[in-house]
Amino acid sequence: MNPNWRFDTIAVHAAQHPDEKTGAISQPIVPAVAYAFADAESAAATVAGERAGTYYGRYGNPTTRTLEHKVARLEGGEDCIGLSSGMAAISSALLAFLQQGDHVLVTRDVYGGTYNFITLLAPRFGIHSDFVDCTDLEQVRAGIRPNTKALYVETPSNPRLTVLDLRRLSELAKDHGIPLIVDNTFMTPYLQCPLELGADVVVHSATKYLNGHGDVVAGFVVGSASTIEFIRKRIAGDLGQNLNAWEAFLILRGLKTMGLRVRAHCDNAQQVASYLAGHPLVEAVYYPGLPDHPQHGLAMRQMRGMGGMVSFEIKGGLKAGQAFINKLQLAMISFSLGDPETLVQHPATMTHFSIPAEERLKFGITDGLIRLSVGLEDPADIIADLEQALCAAGSLTGEG
Ligand SMILES: *Cc1c(COP(=O)(O)O)cnc(C)c1O
Repeated sequence: MNPNWRFDTIAVHAAQHPDEKTGAISQPIVPAVAYAFADAESAAATVAGERAGTYYGRYGNPTTRTLEHKVARLEGGEDCIGLSSGMAAISSALLAFLQQGDHVLVTRDVYGGTYNFITLLAPRFGIHSDFVDCTDLEQVRAGIRPNTKALYVETPSNPRLTVLDLRRLSELAKDHGIPLIVDNTFMTPYLQCPLELGADVVVHSATKYLNGHGDVVAGFVVGSASTIEFIRKRIAGDLGQNLNAWEAFLILRGLKTMGLRVRAHCDNAQQVASYLAGHPLVEAVYYPGLPDHPQHGLAMRQMRGMGGMVSFEIKGGLKAGQAFINKLQLAMISFSLGDPETLVQHPATMTHFSIPAEERLKFGITDGLIRLSVGLEDPADIIADLEQALCAAGSLTGEG
């Protein structure tokens, strides 16, 4: 593989070669769980990790392995493991560094499932946490305790699109000898490579932009070979969170067009954000590509594009928010993101419903907050849909 290849070329070619027997270019799907060995010695060497190869479906699969190599290359990591969901990746990555009596410091507005894992399941195993505003490095420094074993962040955050300085956070983590784990789902490696900025581990929900077609639930952890090996053998292997060959195949297919797709998501989102910023019924727009976003300068330095997610605050709170969503005709009400279709949701009653109301407000999740995953439709059609729905919501609620 040519080391000078650029992103789109890597996304198409890395880790993939025509099949030796048939010449087939697209990746063969190998559904096999069991693998035959020529002799007892090679079986023993494979399970001991002294010889490359697959030995049982829960610990790896050849189709999935090709995908893992490709994702490792795209993120610039030593190795990668594909898992059954983004939450499998996040929980495995955290469990790789945390055990009973340990503490993890977490950025304030994280993905709802991550919040649940950290506040509900992890404490049952003696793992404790604090949530801090990671835009304030002093707060992060002050939050680190002697038993803090990891710093976990998401940038841009969900749903407020807060951008965190990964280079400075990784320096701070290194000063304290703890790993920085970054959820890169909203960006994809096309827009941001946290490992290049000093992070130790990257996690992904591949359910979103990496697969990009709304038909697979999957996740990845990218990091050092020893971390990935530990997750494969001791965490995901024992918990049974493997990614199967069929879904790995779909992600391999989706990845080939990721650059094209993400560029279009970014272009469309920038247009939608600018449109919303000028609308009288819109109180505030949260999009790192807008010059008045609080971390716009940092975003421009750290990210190669501003992403496809736009959140905004509608005047009139819950009533106006729900009226607006109900009037949309093209955009669909949905919990997911990163799909070809424009998806809309109301965080306070949908994705972040499980977070207590007073906690939600601390994370900036008000009743009038709307999150849009801007799709790949023609941007003029997306904006026309928003326009008619805002107009209808405005007359229903008497605002704007
Ligand atoms: C969706 C999502 C997750 C969880 O991923 P699943 O594949 O649904 O388990 C984690 N982090 C972020 C930022 C997400 O958007």
